Amino acid sequence: MNAPLASPPSVKTTCPYCGVGCGVKATPDGRGGALIEGDHDHPANLGRLCSKGAALGETLGLGTRLLHPMVRGADGALARATWDEALDRIASDLRDIIDRHGPQAVAFYLSGQLLTEDYYAANKLAKGFLGTANVDTNSRLCMSSSVAGHKRGFGSDTVPGSYEDLDRADLIILTGSNTAWCHPVLFRRMEQARKARGTKLVVIDPRRTDTGAEADLFLPLAHGTDALLFSGLLVHLAQSPAFDAAYVEAHTTGFAEALEAARAVAPDAETTARACGLAVKDVERFFALFTETARTVTCYSQGVNQSAVGTDKVNAILNCHLATGRIGREGMGPFSLTGQPNAMGGREVGGLANQLAAHMGFSPAEVDRVRRFWGAPHMAEHEGHKAVDMFAAIGRGEIKALWVMGTNPAVSLPQADAVRTALEGLELFVLSENVVANDTAACRPHVMLPAAAWGEKDGTVTNSERRISRQRPFLPRPAEVRPDWWALKGVAERLGFGAAFQWRGPADIFREHAALSGFENGGTRDFDISAFGGLSETAYEDIAPVQWPVPAGRVEGTARLFAEGGYFTPDRRARFVAPRPVAAAESTPPFPFLLNTGRIRDQWHTMTRTGLAPRLGAHIPAPFVAVHPDDAAPLGLATGMLAEVTSAHGRAVLEVVVDAGQRQGTLFAPIHWSHANSSDGRVGALVHAVTDPVSGQPDAKATPAALAPYAAP
Ligand code: SF4
Repeated sequence: MNAPLASPPSVKTTCPYCGVGCGVKATPDGRGGALIEGDHDHPANLGRLCSKGAALGETLGLGTRLLHPMVRGADGALARATWDEALDRIASDLRDIIDRHGPQAVAFYLSGQLLTEDYYAANKLAKGFLGTANVDTNSRLCMSSSVAGHKRGFGSDTVPGSYEDLDRADLIILTGSNTAWCHPVLFRRMEQARKARGTKLVVIDPRRTDTGAEADLFLPLAHGTDALLFSGLLVHLAQSPAFDAAYVEAHTTGFAEALEAARAVAPDAETTARACGLAVKDVERFFALFTETARTVTCYSQGVNQSAVGTDKVNAILNCHLATGRIGREGMGPFSLTGQPNAMGGREVGGLANQLAAHMGFSPAEVDRVRRFWGAPHMAEHEGHKAVDMFAAIGRGEIKALWVMGTNPAVSLPQADAVRTALEGLELFVLSENVVANDTAACRPHVMLPAAAWGEKDGTVTNSERRISRQRPFLPRPAEVRPDWWALKGVAERLGFGAAFQWRGPADIFREHAALSGFENGGTRDFDISAFGGLSETAYEDIAPVQWPVPAGRVEGTARLFAEGGYFTPDRRARFVAPRPVAAAESTPPFPFLLNTGRIRDQWHTMTRTGLAPRLGAHIPAPFVAVHPDDAAPLGLATGMLAEVTSAHGRAVLEVVVDAGQRQGTLFAPIHWSHANSSDGRVGALVHAVTDPVSGQPDAKATPAALAPYAAP
């Protein structure tokens, strides 16, 4: 009698798409694919998956994969090479460029899709051993205004609450967030709370999305006026029973100045409504709901962050929660919804140009601390270029060498046409990628490295609620595909730094990262996972999802912070920050519209993975521009026609969708299409390179643009 066939083992891992960080159970089918299910034990999703997560099994396979290193030869052509040849070329070109131009001529552009261990390796090599802090990431485009706002308000980059608070809130405010499409599993939690406990939903967004359509109160405010609205709310709260004088007195500073500044621009509901382009009765209802509801969570995402005044918007929101003491308590708090799966993990290891690892900055004491921990010979001592500035510096010829890992800047960065030109002018352009062809790969990299993809990667990620989860491999790495940390270590060895990069695997890197987080910390920094410093290989393999801080002796992690103060400022008090006075964003002739860009429900970033699943493409098959009916009619535009959208920086040809949910004078277009998957649908080419002066995050929500019927040449 034959022995029964063993069922294939399932592997618990984490979805590679958005910052919700859903747990996934993958069961390999033995033919390179896998059955994908939601992990019922993962606290982020409790078994749920959205359409993108559920279709992950359809995106596996080798069809478009880069499987071998490629090096550009003297004849200008890319040719297959060995890993030794590729890494030798990178190391020798880096050495040559640093010798001739200094370390500031070298930069890294990373991705919120990288695992924490890969991010750590890149930051250590660049900031400790090459001597450059020109290390930024596509997460700069996603949440850096929230980071800057948190640091100004809390003294640290800390999200105070948990997803559980969404289940326990009586009022959820979503501002600048199409949660139903962009964080669908969290939106389902919110819907559940509405059914179970009658939670009210307020949605604040210039555009009436599927999220706004579900709201008890929808506030279609004018672009860029969120800080005004929350300033008006602060004034209202200060004279209401919701004001928590004891909390403000014990745990904060700067309230009087912030209130005075708020009164100057938004003294009452009527003035606030006028400034924000809203009905007075709606603003009054919003103020009343916030005042009456102790259990209030305010979630914010790209509509707040991707703005020239994004950091001020964040602080205006934080101010209202600080004034009411509604922070770090069950069902209460401000909540930044991160776009990317590992935007937070990247920050933990210093993945921004203005950070060092373990949430340290560039103060002399912190630079020295990291230098000593790493034994670093060439420690960067000053902040580097943030993303938009970095590519401008490349365009000016100041940066000569760039290593891009797991992202597609030729599509996603503002002024994407200028980014393409900049990439093509580099002396050394290294691209670590999963796929053979995308718009960035078309910009003549000198070396292409085949990186491990989801399903092959092994490491950790951190989601929007500070929860560290494992991404575990469940497929063999094909051909010559290798992890990113391994390639970085190979270059470090060739440059003579091998002694500091003696990692055998991701567990070694994670232990080092954990030890650094506790190194001379003493409770002065929020990020501390020193409980993991001595983890065994097996314990690393088995890490259950856990929220940091995880200091020594508290392996269960931390669900909430700041209910009793304890902020990470020198005096342990939070800061009220007065936003600068601003008016609504305005279009400028000859560009009469404001172009807002964003995501759609079933695609992720530049579609290199989601584009492989036919059922995801069926939702919205082509790039489009949404236009208000009163804007479309005078131009003779109707749904289904083609229109040309132009800005001072580029053009795109998009299918018209006439949409009454669009605010008049504004356009919306999705970010996902590129030259690789559509001829003219790449909207990054249109977006201006205006950035928030504090965070450096680009404003992707209000580019002056023009619209006209498309006339085929
Ligand atoms: Fe993945 Fe986000 Fe969908 Fe969860 S909500 S399955 S993390 S894309």
